[in-house]
Amino acid sequence: MEPKLEPIVETFKSREKHMCVKGEGLSIPVCDKASLPGTVTQRTCVYGGARIVLMPITDSIHLVHGPIGCAACTWDIRGSKSSREDLYKKGCSTDLGEKDIIFGGEKKLFETVIELRKLYNPGAIFVYATCVAGVIGDDIKAVCKKTEEVTGCRVIPVQSEGFQDHNKTKGHWIGCDALLDYVIGTREPEKTTPFDINVVGEFNVAGDFWGFKPLLEEVGVNIISTITGDSHVDEIAQAHRARLNIVQCQKSSNYLAKKMEKRYGIPSIKVNFFGLEQTVNSLREIADFFGDPEMIERTEKIIESGLAEVEHKTDEYRERLQGKTVALYVGGNKAWSLVRAFEELGMGVMMSGTKNGIREDYERIKEAVRDGTIIVDDANSTELARLLKKYRPNLLISGAKEKYIALKLGVPFCDFNHDRISAFAGFNGFVSFAKEVDASVSSPIFDLTSTSLRGD
Ligand code: SF4
Repeated sequence: MEPKLEPIVETFKSREKHMCVKGEGLSIPVCDKASLPGTVTQRTCVYGGARIVLMPITDSIHLVHGPIGCAACTWDIRGSKSSREDLYKKGCSTDLGEKDIIFGGEKKLFETVIELRKLYNPGAIFVYATCVAGVIGDDIKAVCKKTEEVTGCRVIPVQSEGFQDHNKTKGHWIGCDALLDYVIGTREPEKTTPFDINVVGEFNVAGDFWGFKPLLEEVGVNIISTITGDSHVDEIAQAHRARLNIVQCQKSSNYLAKKMEKRYGIPSIKVNFFGLEQTVNSLREIADFFGDPEMIERTEKIIESGLAEVEHKTDEYRERLQGKTVALYVGGNKAWSLVRAFEELGMGVMMSGTKNGIREDYERIKEAVRDGTIIVDDANSTELARLLKKYRPNLLISGAKEKYIALKLGVPFCDFNHDRISAFAGFNGFVSFAKEVDASVSSPIFDLTSTSLRGD
């Protein structure tokens, strides 16, 4: 029989088991359920999940087939950087209105695609289905096929109607399916090498990819495509020729890696370039996979010089951060992949949670955190505020939606989501990470904030 435990914070009965403490009976919270109606969930919809995966393809137009409100979920909620064009940053919508809902929006979609093609000549036009497009039954696939024939441009349907599921993870899979069904395998690379790889689940937020891309190039692998950070659609089209997929965001993109293994026989390994130890391990695993003695030797030298370059650069921060606690409330992958990086700064993760976690994600979190860590699923804003007030971490790592909850409670906050502006991946990224964490945790402003809100 399960031991009777005190709730982590005061909440509705049906929500109590969505929070647990590792090591105390239930170590995996109840998860992957519809949010409780009336509570202010921090989740986004299935369409949002698909956008997150596909949005960073820079040479493409991302067209939202729906009312203008859905287009608010656009490039600026995804801080993916581009080294080439900015086409992906155009906010495009068919702006469905009442008339379209009554008579159908296919004609409008057709005309919009033709116009966008004329205006921008993009690598592809991704057409995202929203709730309204789904409810009125527009045949998006048929319109995409027809406009592709007329324009000669790739027009890719993304069947991401927001209402399909309570979990945006399904949107990630739908985004991956659009790539599998319409892009990957449709173009052959000019040349191949024995060391061709795809970097999967790396979205180049704040330029993270650029923090470890040079390391991979020095190791001697040839990057065919990045899926999807700083990418072109024609590069992703050649991804089926890679010898290996390295998967950075395992929450959104394991699905794609598994399907590519089944369809094209490409094995995958999970990597993590956040933190020194994890960067070292990832580089070693890639070199070990290829088993080339020269590559292995070269990789050891890269590791040695990478570590030497950042040695002592984080000492000052580490000294101030020693013994401080951090709460993670993030999108999934980071809920486990950041744990070790914080430990390297001398900090302890006292809480880790996600908004859209599935059981597999919580298994990963459970493995990564120490006994006594609180694990939370889909905490709404009231629960999050109560958690912060009761357990008082020295830092909350989360996204824009949680930022002001933390700041109003006088809890230092660091954005590790789509809006951040500093890149944290790779050896030098770790120094920026330490600097930014320290700037928040050690800021004197938090001694001046209202104590009444904090409940002191
Ligand atoms: S797709 Fe649906 S749930 Fe998502 S933003 Fe649009 S209307 Fe809202």
